Amino acid sequence: MTTRIFLATLGRVYCPDYDRPVDARDTLRLHVVGCSPAWPNPGGAQSGYLLEGSGRLLMDCGPGVLARLREEEGWPRVDAIAITHFHLDHWGDLVPWVWGSLYGLGHDLPRVELWLSPTGREQLAEFGERLGWADMFERVFDLRAYEGGQPFRAAGFEILPLRLPHYTLETYGFRVSNGDRTLAYSGDSGPSEHLPELARDVDLFVCEATLLTGDADGAPRGHLSLDEVQSAYAASGARRLLITHRPHELPTDDGFELAHDGLTVDV
Ligand SMILES: [Zn+2]
Repeated sequence: MTTRIFLATLGRVYCPDYDRPVDARDTLRLHVVGCSPAWPNPGGAQSGYLLEGSGRLLMDCGPGVLARLREEEGWPRVDAIAITHFHLDHWGDLVPWVWGSLYGLGHDLPRVELWLSPTGREQLAEFGERLGWADMFERVFDLRAYEGGQPFRAAGFEILPLRLPHYTLETYGFRVSNGDRTLAYSGDSGPSEHLPELARDVDLFVCEATLLTGDADGAPRGHLSLDEVQSAYAASGARRLLITHRPHELPTDDGFELAHDGLTVDV
């Protein structure tokens, strides 16, 4: 399956499917680069969701995402990356992104904003000490910190991070708007009253469903089953639901729209 990434050039998005430019200012386009859970689905990449509008925002950057992006461009051209939390399946490819930016094709490209949770800079420094240098990520990315409940602007989008429960880890979901269309992305979350808040009346709710049943989870909770996602979706008033982060081996009822790597959605 080919990942189709659309190239944003001079504010226009060129869409190979239609072979004509569309106006990027009004566009909110989601490319599912990778949607595997904590262990990869067969042939799959882990979490990576590219949003295109007047800019390009990559939400999460798990293992396999960089290779997929490189299938379309020598080195990915994104304006900003935003990370929901520091489990490896959501950030691991930032490590090779550093090496390629220092020594590879990324070297001559503009620096990318890297938006992290309030403790993110500290966590990256700890990882850096073991993997290279404490400041390895700062050498390549412009590190920025977001605060839960405080909207920030990146890549031409307004992004509201909301804290969600994911075991004991500091974790956020993102609500992203271009002023016209809005998408919510759960990242990883257990059941929470904040999920319907995150996805309130959005055009598209991209929500994880890692579990067969809620009682398969640990304590405190960290993931969702399909029926728990359905409850959050119903309470949110969102217009469309896209299930993601779902293990290939679990059944998914036909009534649910299931993400796959390479899927493109006009929000
Ligand atoms: Zn995950």
